Amino acid sequence: MSGLERSDKFKDECGVVAVHNHPEASTLAYLGLHQLQHRGQESAGIVSSDGARLRVHKAMGEVAEIFTEEALGKLPGMLAIGHTRYSTAGDSAALNVQPIMVDCNKGMIALAHNGNLVNAWEIRSRLEAYGSIFQTTSDTEVIVHLIAQSKEPTLPEAMCEALRQIEGAFSLVMMTHDRVFAIRDPRGFRPLSMGRIPNGAGEERDTIVFASETCAFDLIGAVFERDIKPGEMVVVGPEGVSSRFYGTEEVKPASCIFEHVYFARPDSVVFGRSVQVSREAMGRQLAKESPVEADVVVPVPDSGVTAALGYAAEAGLPFRFGLIRNHYVGRTFIEPEQRVRDFGVKLKLNPVRSLLTGQRVVLIDDSIVRGTTSRKIMRMVRDAGATEVHLRISCPPTISPCYYGVDTPSKSQLIAATKTVEEIRDYIGADSLAYLSLEGLRQACAEGEETTYCTSCYTGTYPTEFVPLEQLIPPALAPKKP
Ligand code: SF4
Repeated sequence: MSGLERSDKFKDECGVVAVHNHPEASTLAYLGLHQLQHRGQESAGIVSSDGARLRVHKAMGEVAEIFTEEALGKLPGMLAIGHTRYSTAGDSAALNVQPIMVDCNKGMIALAHNGNLVNAWEIRSRLEAYGSIFQTTSDTEVIVHLIAQSKEPTLPEAMCEALRQIEGAFSLVMMTHDRVFAIRDPRGFRPLSMGRIPNGAGEERDTIVFASETCAFDLIGAVFERDIKPGEMVVVGPEGVSSRFYGTEEVKPASCIFEHVYFARPDSVVFGRSVQVSREAMGRQLAKESPVEADVVVPVPDSGVTAALGYAAEAGLPFRFGLIRNHYVGRTFIEPEQRVRDFGVKLKLNPVRSLLTGQRVVLIDDSIVRGTTSRKIMRMVRDAGATEVHLRISCPPTISPCYYGVDTPSKSQLIAATKTVEEIRDYIGADSLAYLSLEGLRQACAEGEETTYCTSCYTGTYPTEFVPLEQLIPPALAPKKP
């Protein structure tokens, strides 16, 4: 983190891509990662295979900084997997940059993971007791050790055995010298989609791609084919595409609803539904549930924009870009020595006075985490001349942390865990404050037979059993979430 204050948002998680059968596989993986940059900006990596050897390039930084033409030139082959990651900056983060690549008794394998295993440290302690030596503090490495230790004779069988032992959120892409694997956990917490680039030489010669979000397919000319199903392992090899389910018990899917609220790009289709459509429906529903007398609807950019469009359309109010975001604030920006009030927020957002002066404003945002940033934005809009500011949030109050691959503050730092809506309104200085109901959110994301969602950060009820990390290992050794 730079000298700037910590962003008052849940941190994005990770993004994964995989490419099978393309002469520029690593370049396609690079372009895919570029599209997934919003899912993690602190490190990235690509492993390629030329059919005999796996090669890796990975580093701290953003995708475009890490992968120069020279770096991509050193990643030849028809297969590639890639990963972009959010983590807290520091030496330990460099150690955990993915994909992980190992040479084990099952051959060379590379693995990239989006999600968080809730029983990784339990398994790790067991493996270490039997002599396993871990190279990283990442939960992902546990999967590699379980595969290596399996007595199953083939790699797919060894992988299924390993996958049945882990619990939590995992969308994985894995690669050997001639195969790519795409896997989702039985609850399907995180998204993972499959696409195809037709090569005109028969189905077995098409390029098959996988990505966390479908927006990655658009840039590389791939056509979305389908989502990997919860509990499914898809294998792409010389013989074509095959699929199997590795789980033993049936569990109810719990796809992360926050992907629709905030994480995923609006141009993606996630869990079979357009994110743009979900966000607009959230705004419309919010307007129905919590209308207010006002003159103008203003989004907190960028993530509040689509919900604000929905709110304005439903309420019959004008939509205005009354706050402008500066997209070019680097992580290493140096603060002035004489601190300016609310400097961090002012650096990222600036009010358009001509649109706000004398107006009763409905401000739309997608979440309040600690409340500190919302409070500053309120002050900024009032200072720009708004006569009233009514804050509307396009999801329910966030009362509990996430254990499934999203970096969230502890419960004590979540303002909605300790304060009522009225107390939060008072703290942030809004004229009124309302959140979208949980039922309204589920409706906006079209929950039904096809998709059931995890909503644990709004309810405090979790779909898996887990032991909080801090009870298992000393804080100094606690892993950074991917
Ligand atoms: Fe998503 Fe919240 Fe569930 Fe985490 S707890 S997976 S952020 S809905």
